Amino acid sequence: MMNYLRPAIQQMTGYTPGEQPRPGTPILKLNTNENPYPPSPAALEVLRSLDSEWLRRYPTPYANDMRQAVSEVLDVPPEWIMVGNGSDELLNVILRACVEPGRKVVYPTPTYVLYPTLAALQVAEVVEIPYGAGWQLPLAELVAANGHLTLIASPNSPTAHVVSLTELRELAQRVTGVLVVDEAYVDFATETALPLVQEFKHVIVIRTLSKGYSLAGLRLGFAIAHPDLLEGLFKVKDSYNVDAIACLVGAAAIRDQAYKQACVTKVKAARVKLADDLRQLNFKVWDSQTNFLLTQPRDRPAATLYQELKDQGILVRYFNHAGLTDKLRITIGTDDQNRTLITALQTILNPPLFR
Ligand SMILES: *Cc1c(COP(=O)(O)O)cnc(C)c1O
Repeated sequence: MMNYLRPAIQQMTGYTPGEQPRPGTPILKLNTNENPYPPSPAALEVLRSLDSEWLRRYPTPYANDMRQAVSEVLDVPPEWIMVGNGSDELLNVILRACVEPGRKVVYPTPTYVLYPTLAALQVAEVVEIPYGAGWQLPLAELVAANGHLTLIASPNSPTAHVVSLTELRELAQRVTGVLVVDEAYVDFATETALPLVQEFKHVIVIRTLSKGYSLAGLRLGFAIAHPDLLEGLFKVKDSYNVDAIACLVGAAAIRDQAYKQACVTKVKAARVKLADDLRQLNFKVWDSQTNFLLTQPRDRPAATLYQELKDQGILVRYFNHAGLTDKLRITIGTDDQNRTLITALQTILNPPLFR
């Protein structure tokens, strides 16, 4: 057949997102780190009150209502904020704006599996540097790799650890290209790299409303960086990249910090309990600054356990990637959902002697 695609597209493997069954499917979904609680009532109220005019007209190109809300909540001037259709879009825009064929994209592994896909689209040279023992940041190697773009997810997925502000600051001081800190899970963590944006013109912090704010379906994220750098990114984004509904609902959600914090507090308490329960079942569980746990079942291959849970209607994340094939990433649910998971695991791992 005639080859219509760019060679790079033909050769790459596309990104494989986690399974997304339709809402209403009787399944316990602990595979893609959604927040188990509903979005802010204030945000839902805005959604219900929108009249058709918001759909008929084009949205503002820079999602001004959302930009203003982020500005107030984080105390950052609006010109330092770019809103995107999920933080995935922002990553995509950053890669397209900064990386042309042959330029280097550098990141420590394991990390977010979208990064290599975005790099492949740009025909970038990818340099992956493994985290050390205890997820120690390979700082010297990252610096030596000399990327046009260095990507750090902190807190990271799937490891659940956070890279300290001190280490990120040292990295920012020593890299020459752009440094992106992907803070998708920052709402569940104790540290943020946000101060670095003010200290360094080449640092971009990106965040999302998908995890902390229970709005994964809305598709809304934002980047914070120096206005000179954002000016370049704005040239690359779609003219109307954020829809009118996402912009208004997101603005209400981020303004409702009290509600977000209440949900985060519940998730963090459940995180402690779920980790304890999994350790009781002979899992290795890594410390987490996120809304999921990286775990290693010791009594069963992870792939087998993934399938056995799925057969019982429970989805967790299994990664067929080097270093991860013996592990499962489990999203923290409500107390009830976590109990259901633990009960299912008890049945699978310790079947009764007599049936
Ligand atoms: C979930 C996630 C994202 C994507 O967030 P969206 O805003 O839903 O696109 C980005 N980075 C990491 C590390 C994530 O886990």
